[in-house]
Amino acid sequence: MDIVDSHAHLDMREFDADRDAVVQRTWDGGVKALLCPIELSEPRSRPLVLELCRVHAWITAAAGVHPHRAEAFLPSHLEALRELTLAGKIAAIGEIGIDHHYDFSPAPVQAEVFRTQLLLAQELNLPVIIHSRNAGQEVIAAIEETRFSRGGILHCFTEDRRTAERMIDRGFLVSFSGILTYRSASALRQIAASLPLEKLLVETDSPYLVPQALRNKSKRNEPLFVIETAKVLAEVKKVSLEDVAAVTGNNFRALILEKSAPA
Ligand SMILES: [Zn+2]
Repeated sequence: MDIVDSHAHLDMREFDADRDAVVQRTWDGGVKALLCPIELSEPRSRPLVLELCRVHAWITAAAGVHPHRAEAFLPSHLEALRELTLAGKIAAIGEIGIDHHYDFSPAPVQAEVFRTQLLLAQELNLPVIIHSRNAGQEVIAAIEETRFSRGGILHCFTEDRRTAERMIDRGFLVSFSGILTYRSASALRQIAASLPLEKLLVETDSPYLVPQALRNKSKRNEPLFVIETAKVLAEVKKVSLEDVAAVTGNNFRALILEKSAPA
């Protein structure tokens, strides 16, 4: 197996007790690339993720301020993103975006912080990792208004098909999490079936969203479980698991790992 988990929060406290063991079995089980977002408003996140990336060359960092934390956004976070980019420590800005399911930060603040980070990503020529929940229209409007053109990943996709298509048109890959495997998610599986595999990714969003088949066994999700989501995507697309792993892996590497020429 050679598969990519496009989104895992290995910095979270859920992994404090056994992080090294989790990382080891992730690699041994066949996950050969993984993206881990640094949450800049959480002081422990940056050193922890950078150390993971230093030790494990197959782990890649992104960095940003999550929409839930938009109220904690500071100008110094933009400086941190510039520094990390110049030092070659991050391959994307994120996760960033808008979440109207929870609205943990006020909507106008989320919109402003999202736009600010999109503009910086455009300037730095970095792709973005977008979190969008009940916010597809607004996310697309922000991309248009900021003229953001570098593309990225629409992570943990739960929006409608039109949003997926419009994001793909704007250079984005659509990443499916364990939600794709849930019994209640037949509408999401239909959307996945209708989209080209060359524009898709799989992710765990660990430690959240354990895939259906493992929900009785583990309360915590971990990167190796990405295989369960890939199996369901393979069924939906009527291709083999190996094909899903290979194509989504290529998609990820072309967008995130192969550095494009500086702007
Ligand atoms: Zn997210």
